Amino acid sequence: MTSPNDPTLCSFIPVDAASDFPIQNLPYGVFSTSALPAPRIGVAIGDYVLDLWELEQDCRLVVGDLGVFSAPTLNPFMALGPKLWTRTRARISELLRHDNPELRDNPTLRERALVPMAQAKLHLPIAVAGYTDFYSSKEHATNVGIMFRGKDNALQPNWLHMPIAYNGRASTVVVSGTRVRRPRGQLKPPNGELPGFAPCKRLDFELEMGVVIGQASAMGGMLTEAQAEEMIFGFVLLNDWSARDIQQWEYVPLGPFQGKAFATSISPWVVTREALEPFRLSGPKQDPAPLPYLRQAKPNNYDLELEVGLRAASMKRPLRICHTNFKYMYWSSVQQLVHHAACGCAMNVGDLLGSGTISGPEKSQRGSLLEISWNGTEPIELEDGITRTFLEDNDSLVMRGWCQGDGYRIGFGEVEGTILPAE
Ligand code: CA
Repeated sequence: MTSPNDPTLCSFIPVDAASDFPIQNLPYGVFSTSALPAPRIGVAIGDYVLDLWELEQDCRLVVGDLGVFSAPTLNPFMALGPKLWTRTRARISELLRHDNPELRDNPTLRERALVPMAQAKLHLPIAVAGYTDFYSSKEHATNVGIMFRGKDNALQPNWLHMPIAYNGRASTVVVSGTRVRRPRGQLKPPNGELPGFAPCKRLDFELEMGVVIGQASAMGGMLTEAQAEEMIFGFVLLNDWSARDIQQWEYVPLGPFQGKAFATSISPWVVTREALEPFRLSGPKQDPAPLPYLRQAKPNNYDLELEVGLRAASMKRPLRICHTNFKYMYWSSVQQLVHHAACGCAMNVGDLLGSGTISGPEKSQRGSLLEISWNGTEPIELEDGITRTFLEDNDSLVMRGWCQGDGYRIGFGEVEGTILPAE
């Protein structure tokens, strides 16, 4: 049988080479239409959403219990496990192939199951069980360390030995397009004696990838590299909005809290781990060697291009302010998951792991305004006369990501958010 990742596969649905959603991708999402407002599960293909519920009702796609694709989140489908994920993806690929008449030559079913993307409203694709945010880019951690502690103490002594993280808020994870209210909090200017309570003045984004966990693990257990990998259902783009002034005053000694809890945006399409398989590569050499439980036998990083655009309200289109790659991450998603569970922490279906801000070695590869404007000291120019150090009200931030194949790309679509003034 042909692999769904075969670069020569093509669909009877025309897909442009620059599209994020060729037949080799098939990312899952949750959508609704004005004709049928119940959120249900679909797959992106070119400029269409393939309605899996319609295929299920027509007995073209039978997976687990009937109704798994009429759910308003991917969680029940993910809970079925990696063998069924593989089988389902292979069947959807088969149904969309140019040489398969099943759907191609069935106008009634095509009419019902293929929804133009422009008519689909996209929803948060998963019920987020828990949200953990890592800090795994050496370049990002070094940049932030230099700004806050100086060059000699940039990386904390633990950083090279484990993936550092904190437990974030699942309740405020939102889908792309959701507007984000400027947060309020305690601020203390460096020279001020006492803190005040006011709207954040140093609002930032963080360019990250989100890992969607599709299988649970037992409390008290540990995971091997292979077990952790099998639990990863897929990936989304993630913007970990950050209030730098709130963060800087609150973070000692327990880490981020209010500065990160007001919003986290993710892209609506979950790109499966299987679709990314051809783009695997080894991450940076880890020196010192990690402890045995964190060692990896496989290359667990991905060659995945990322870019960030910023648009002030008066601008027609966003200006690109960062172009980097997921491959630079020092700790892989598999290592993050192994470490997360290592103390005996149970993982759940629908857990979301933020990779941590993804910065590369070059200046143009910095994944936050904190780094781009070097803590507000080097403003960037967006358009004649429009400069930024941090985000202003009505600014819109867009992240995109894709793996470039030969003649096709496995894309993530985008995650967008616009800042509303504080209340
Ligand atoms: Ca973060």
